[in-house]
Amino acid sequence: MLVVKKFGGTSVADKERIFNVAKRCAEDYKSGNDVVVVLSAMGKTTDHLIEMAKDINPNASKREMDMLLATGEQTSVALMAMAFGAMGIPAISLNAFQVVMHTTKKYGNARFKRIDSERIHNELDDRKIVIITGFQGINKYDDITTLGRGGSDTTAVALAAALHADACEIYTDVDGIYTADPRIVPKAKKLEEITYDEMLELATLGAKVLHNRSVEMAKKYGVQLVVRSSLNETEGTVVKEEVEGMESMLVSGVAVDKNAARIAVIGLQNQPGIAFKIFNLLAKKNINVDVILQSIGRDDKKDISFTISRDDVEEAVALLEQNKARLTAERIESDATVAKVSVVGAGMQSNPGVAAAMFEALFNAGINIRMIATSEIRITVLLDEVDADYAMRAVHDKFIPE
Ligand code: ADP
Ligand code: ASP
Ligand code: MG
Repeated sequence: MLVVKKFGGTSVADKERIFNVAKRCAEDYKSGNDVVVVLSAMGKTTDHLIEMAKDINPNASKREMDMLLATGEQTSVALMAMAFGAMGIPAISLNAFQVVMHTTKKYGNARFKRIDSERIHNELDDRKIVIITGFQGINKYDDITTLGRGGSDTTAVALAAALHADACEIYTDVDGIYTADPRIVPKAKKLEEITYDEMLELATLGAKVLHNRSVEMAKKYGVQLVVRSSLNETEGTVVKEEVEGMESMLVSGVAVDKNAARIAVIGLQNQPGIAFKIFNLLAKKNINVDVILQSIGRDDKKDISFTISRDDVEEAVALLEQNKARLTAERIESDATVAKVSVVGAGMQSNPGVAAAMFEALFNAGINIRMIATSEIRITVLLDEVDADYAMRAVHDKFIPE
């Protein structure tokens, strides 16, 4: 059996944890399995590297940022290989260049295009544990790219797909996927299983337990994932295509995104094509838009508001300002003190009461809703960031039985 095991930052934060991971992998190896280990940077290394960069140059190029951030994962894999060495187990560390993991050219947010599996297979055939850097790739200029924060999960799934692995296990610092972030909602419950579609929504809407593109890729290639703790033997949560008893579960999770910002384009002429122009401008720059609200204001003019990631605010505002005349806008406003709270559940497709129940919970908690968006399996509200945690708990209490 070929197993891909991914360990996140907390799981390799210090010497003791590195040996703990090595021991867990060694058990698998000794039982005869081929073991591929994917690692993140130790503890808060990536955050510290970003701080260091900002201190030197707040406008550092994305290429150099990737060059810097990729060192975090390289440290972990080398130390892990040394730990296996100390235990007398044959192992080798490889970075994205050595594997070769090809990505698109976009620094800071690259996507995998192709992974060469020959080197990995050769090392496994030599009965070595192969330890691979998460989060990084190589683009067509032979430069290092990174996949976006949390991207090591995606490396693990991409490798599991490329190597046709029998299992893909994501080890982290919680016991599995919960109905909400257990750090914000202590009453949250661990799920035994969840569908790709629901997990993709939750991850995209802020549940950072999995990188959203890892879920997208797992669905595409049919890679069944298990999310579990690196610190205990608890069973964890399986992410797969279909889940038994799905119909009865109205809401499977609540997520919060505190990295949201609201942009308002105010005083637009009420004529066809304006929305197209605004969102086309943003799309061309790869700026993802989520909740959208159009309202008619004074003098038959209209306002269009929408949410984007806080990382994109500067670029979006500059772009809209440059095109203000063409868009017929009077002014552009931005607000980075908002958050999105979402409920996700496949069961809500056939149950009309979910939105009302969510708004009731927020009303009872005295929380003001600023914008709303829905899809077949989710409802998102935009609210003030200061209300977000309280709102999470109120909404969770409403839907998830004790
Ligand atoms: P790693 O470094 O292992 O990748 P992350 O910090 O990226 O770990 O992800 C794990 C964290 O995700 C948990 O510590 C938890 O606070 C957070 N989290 C958010 N939503 C959920 C959820 N629904 N279930 C479990 N954990 C969640
Ligand atoms: N080290 C990277 C980060 O902190 C990637 C990851 O942890 O998955 O975002
Ligand atoms: Mg993570």
